[in-house]
Amino acid sequence: MSTRWIFTVAEMIAFATEVRSKAKPLALVPTMGALHEGHLSLVRQAKIQCDAVVVSIFVNPTQFGPTEDFARYPRNPEKDFELLETSKVQAVFAPPVEEVFPAGFSTFVDPGHIATVWEGAQRPGHFRGVATVVLRLFNIVRADIAFFGQKDFQQMIIIRRLVEDLNLPVRIVVCPIVREADGLARSSRNVFLSAEDRKAAALLSRSLKRAEAMAQAGEADAEKILEEMRKTFAAEPRLKLDYAAVVNPATLEPVTHALPGSVALVAARLGRVRLIDNTIFGPPGLSPEMKLQLALTTPAPDKESGPTPRPEIDSLRVKIENCRDCAAVASIALPPHEFLFKYLKRDYPTLESIRVLVIGGCAPIRPAGSPYCHPEEPNRFSTRLYELLGVGNFAEFKARFALTDAARCHAVGNRVDERTLEYCAKHLREELKLLPNLQSIVILGEYAYWQFQRHILGRERATIRPFAELLKSEGWAHETVRLACFGERDLRVFYCYYPTFENKKSPSLARHLSEKP
Ligand code: AMP
Repeated sequence: MSTRWIFTVAEMIAFATEVRSKAKPLALVPTMGALHEGHLSLVRQAKIQCDAVVVSIFVNPTQFGPTEDFARYPRNPEKDFELLETSKVQAVFAPPVEEVFPAGFSTFVDPGHIATVWEGAQRPGHFRGVATVVLRLFNIVRADIAFFGQKDFQQMIIIRRLVEDLNLPVRIVVCPIVREADGLARSSRNVFLSAEDRKAAALLSRSLKRAEAMAQAGEADAEKILEEMRKTFAAEPRLKLDYAAVVNPATLEPVTHALPGSVALVAARLGRVRLIDNTIFGPPGLSPEMKLQLALTTPAPDKESGPTPRPEIDSLRVKIENCRDCAAVASIALPPHEFLFKYLKRDYPTLESIRVLVIGGCAPIRPAGSPYCHPEEPNRFSTRLYELLGVGNFAEFKARFALTDAARCHAVGNRVDERTLEYCAKHLREELKLLPNLQSIVILGEYAYWQFQRHILGRERATIRPFAELLKSEGWAHETVRLACFGERDLRVFYCYYPTFENKKSPSLARHLSEKP
């Protein structure tokens, strides 16, 4: 497949319509070109999550002020073409200005107050231009998922708001910031920096690192953190700080107490080059994706009582408010409703061979931990699972079994809440419909048990026996059930301990799973 280069709106609409009828989901990665590793990380993520990817390259004049660098913004079409062809994206949409803003164009999107602070205050009208062009691109490409970078934190929040407020049928996925070895966030404008500038520019990320370290060490006073950040900048007179702030990610309002999930924003000028950067505060060791999850699920502060500091442990148990947030972060390599489906398409020549569906706990934080990702390298989970099912390896496993999960949020940690289980049960029901010859279901652990009882079998809470009690005597339990999607057919359900659960282990199910129900 060669990458298709598209320069007109009409051709893009026609191409996207054709692609959408065959490939779903369709991704859009909007960029202004002069591509670098940051952009390419979005493209890679889009390729993982979607069947087809459209990258747009458009230096949008409406987001540049009259004294800004529109004319000298870096443009490098030859190299962009090369990079995107190597990335094997389906199409690149690179329209000239008159295609996107033809004569007579007069409708603009006003994103409201959040577009007037920080970057919006420094660059009046900037986000009006961004929101307008992004909406236009969404309507032209009509992608299912659009990918944005955390690098432009305020822009990403504004786009999420735009999608929410105008009910746009697109899901926004956010990818973490890609940095140079010295910490400098990758940016198209970095090409303007001399070697000496580069040293000074690294202060942005250094100040953010320092701020996060303070927060991690227990400093909750945002003003003290900001003081320290300003000190870092004072040491380099060539760097002119436009702003440094610690904000609530939902409202972008400054916070007085820095909490896990709060975001530090900085913007500075180095000669004619403007640089922006940010970091999300989180407990030490949290991955960038988990931090994004933390920020994107942080509620707006309660105006009445003001922000109340939460203990760190609470924020670790990130509340999954809804699937939009859950799927908003790039590390969810397999979005909820495509979770099992993605594997099925790749690993199973025919779904008719699947006799047993195993339902595990949470989707692995790193999908690499799943037996589907590294079938040749069994881990503790897969080894114990194979033992339970009576198979020797992945090839034997996939001859009859498929594995899915009760919850697909990567951030549910040790506590999966009821809402998550209820929400994810929707996807599980869809998956069950894909397996026409299913005979048995193996439920691993308590969350999957609870979800199955409550949201697949629809049983009342009070009638469900506690999991520990159910498994107490034999280490497993089973029952025969009927599900609407299988009509009058009986289905056997086996309840077992999660394969890596403490020191409790269920006996092998091999004998029972080879019998017909
Ligand atoms: P731009 O071409 O600068 O408009 O950026 C296009 C997209 O790439 C935006 O969603 C940016 O946030 C994202 N992006 C730019 N730089 C980076 C980076 N260093 N890491 C991750 N994403 C980035």
